[in-house]
Amino acid sequence: MTKIAIAIHGGAGPDSDFIKQHIKEYKEGLKEAINEAYAMLEQGSSATDVVEAAIKNLEDNTLFNAGKGSSLTEKAEVEMCASIMNGFDLKCGAAAIVKNVRNPIRLARQIMEKTKHIYLGSIGAAEFARELNLPMEPDAYFITERQFESYEQTRKKLNDNGQQLAIEQLEKKHGTVGAVALDIRGNLAAGTSTGGTDFCRQGRIADSSMIGAGTYANNDTCAVSTTGEGELHMQYVTAFHISALMEYKGMSLREACHFLIQEKCKHINGDMGLIAVDTKGNLVAEFNTSRMHRAMKSSTQDLIVEIYPK
Ligand code: ASP
Repeated sequence: MTKIAIAIHGGAGPDSDFIKQHIKEYKEGLKEAINEAYAMLEQGSSATDVVEAAIKNLEDNTLFNAGKGSSLTEKAEVEMCASIMNGFDLKCGAAAIVKNVRNPIRLARQIMEKTKHIYLGSIGAAEFARELNLPMEPDAYFITERQFESYEQTRKKLNDNGQQLAIEQLEKKHGTVGAVALDIRGNLAAGTSTGGTDFCRQGRIADSSMIGAGTYANNDTCAVSTTGEGELHMQYVTAFHISALMEYKGMSLREACHFLIQEKCKHINGDMGLIAVDTKGNLVAEFNTSRMHRAMKSSTQDLIVEIYPK
C-alpha cells in the first residue's frame, strides 16, 4: 500500500496558565483537524488540498493564533500572514499583512494558482481575495477576548514602565498553525498561517508567509512548516535548510531537523520549532521550547496528539 502521512502544529513557544487550563480543548482542536485531513488523504485528496483544509480548520479555531483568534499588533489590529507550497512542481503562494480575509491560507493557495506571482501583500492581497469572492469578515470577527486581554496587559506594562521596558524584555507571545502532508501519489505539500507576534509593529511580516523560512516542500526531500520566533526562522532559512541538509548532506529527515534546531541553532536564545514529513512518510516534530502543539498520523503511525515534549 502506498504510504500517506500528515503532521499539523498549533505553535511552539513558552507554556502558559491558559494553555495548562485548556489542554483538553487544544488537543480536541488538533484531533479534529488531523482526523478530517487524514480522511481526505485516505480518499485520495492531494497533499495541497489536505494541507489547506487542515490549516483552514485551525484558522477557524479561536484557540490558535491564526485567522480568528490572531494576536494584535501595537495598533490593536490583526494582520495575518500565510503560505503554501507544492512539492512536485515547487509552485507556491504567499500572502502578508492580510486583513479581513477569513482564511489567509485559502488566499495563499489562490495566489499560487491564479496569479503569475508568488507573494501578495496588504491592500493588494485583500483586493484579490475580494475579486475571488473568498469569505471576508469585519475586524471584530478576528479579535477574541483572550487576545485583546493579552494586548492590554502588554500595553499596560509598557505604560507603567514609561516605555522603559524594551519590547524584547516582554514575555514572548506568539503562535502559528501549520501542516505538512504526503499524499497517495507521493506528492508532498506544506503550509503555514499566523497572526504573528503579540504587540508587533504595524506592517511586520511573519516568516510563516516566507517560502524557505516558514514553509517549504520539495518532492525530492521533504515538506516543512515552522513555528517560533519568525525573525530566527528568517535568519536561518529554516524550512529550506532542512531540505538542503537532506539533499546536499545526505541526512535523514530526523537527523536534519535535530541538527538544525538542537545543534546549529543551539547558541540562539530563541523559540524554534517545526514539523516535517519526507517522501517515505516519516514524520518529525522538533522544537527547543517547553511546548509545541502538534498532531501526526500516517499509514504506519497511529495518531499522536501532544503539547509537551514526549
Ligand atoms: N513564526 C510566527 C511569527 O513570527 C510566530 C510563531 O510561530 O509562533 O509570526
